[in-house]
Amino acid sequence: MKIHEFQGKQLFRQAGVPVLDGIVASTADEAAAAYKKLGGPIAVVKAQIHAGGRGKGTVIDNPEQKGVVIVKSAEQARAAAKGLIDKKLVTIQTGPEGKTVNRVFVEAGCDIARELYLGIIIDRAACKPVLMVSTEGGVEIEAVAEKNPELIFKERYNPAYGIDAFQVRKLCKKLGISGEGAKSAAKFFKAVGQFFVDYDCSMVEINPLVITGDGKMIALDAKITFDDNALFRHKDLLDLRDWSEEEPSEVRASDAGLSYVKLDGNIGCLVNGAGLAMSTMDIIKYHGGNPANFLDVGGGANAQQVTEAFRILLSDPNCKGVLVNIFGGIARCTTIAAALIEASKTIGFKVPLVVRLEGTEVEEGRKMLEESDVDIISAVDITDAAKKIVAAVQ
Ligand code: ADP
Ligand code: MG
Repeated sequence: MKIHEFQGKQLFRQAGVPVLDGIVASTADEAAAAYKKLGGPIAVVKAQIHAGGRGKGTVIDNPEQKGVVIVKSAEQARAAAKGLIDKKLVTIQTGPEGKTVNRVFVEAGCDIARELYLGIIIDRAACKPVLMVSTEGGVEIEAVAEKNPELIFKERYNPAYGIDAFQVRKLCKKLGISGEGAKSAAKFFKAVGQFFVDYDCSMVEINPLVITGDGKMIALDAKITFDDNALFRHKDLLDLRDWSEEEPSEVRASDAGLSYVKLDGNIGCLVNGAGLAMSTMDIIKYHGGNPANFLDVGGGANAQQVTEAFRILLSDPNCKGVLVNIFGGIARCTTIAAALIEASKTIGFKVPLVVRLEGTEVEEGRKMLEESDVDIISAVDITDAAKKIVAAVQ
């Protein structure tokens, strides 16, 4: 789950990670009032969307309007907010269709002496969080990783103990920070390292992490992703979820207890089990096709879930055919066959449907499908199924 910058900064503040004062606004008037309240003379109006690259991004049909604007009066704050709210902002991370800006964050201006980078993710090989910092802040870190990987410094830390003092010293040396700056950095790194662990984050990215003219370290940006599998431990975070930022079909699937990820191919896949879903996508690719989605109805899928899964698949206009690949382990093939027949009656299939069933009660399941009037192409095994669906959508 992702959250907005203004929400992330609120959590940072509570956790002792230094941020600037800021006020969120959903109208131009609120933005002007926020500027006055912050007291000027300089403030920054920042579009709130779940995507980075806002500083260089522009509003559709208004290339003059950037996603991050420095303002020097309440009138300028109002104008910047007016140019952003309810408009679509396109950045390198949104895709060409852009994302609608519902709110802006009006933040105090900052006297930036240096722009650094900070990121924390899980190092799966080391089974630990890894804190990464770089002198190359404010730019795309992917480009630094590619061209100058030696400018990214990493420290893995034990989640139970947090970041150690010696690790902070090492990083400060590499970043060229000393004296008062190093004290501020020590507090900052420890607090943000602890934040990552306490909230079960999968990513925290602060780009830029700035050092002010008077040597203080401050988070100027905040990109936070929480691990969905740990959200049950953080009920308070659920209020921060912004459904308007999420793919509607994925939200629908998650409500039905399905794991669904929309992709850009044309073959819908209905599979039980994440491993089988992955290999189904692989084999479709192998035979020259492109999956329209990843969909795992789960080991114990029931009729309602299968019907809902078909609804979701068939509502995607790119879906030109569906491959059902079910291994009846916990779920019986007869249950799946009955669900298929039911789904065909209630929704009606207008695209070719290839079905491969295997496992518990497979003979009975196949018989049910044969005797029904559902128009299916049956397949004997997974290779046969992949070839048939690829041919059918061509
Ligand atoms: P994004 O990563 O989406 O482009 P950022 O929050 O990193 O958005 O802002 C882009 C740039 O705007 C920053 O690199 C920084 O130079 C400038 N900036 C952002 N917030 C402030 C602020 N409060 N004061 C001064 N400059 C800012
Ligand atoms: Mg940024």
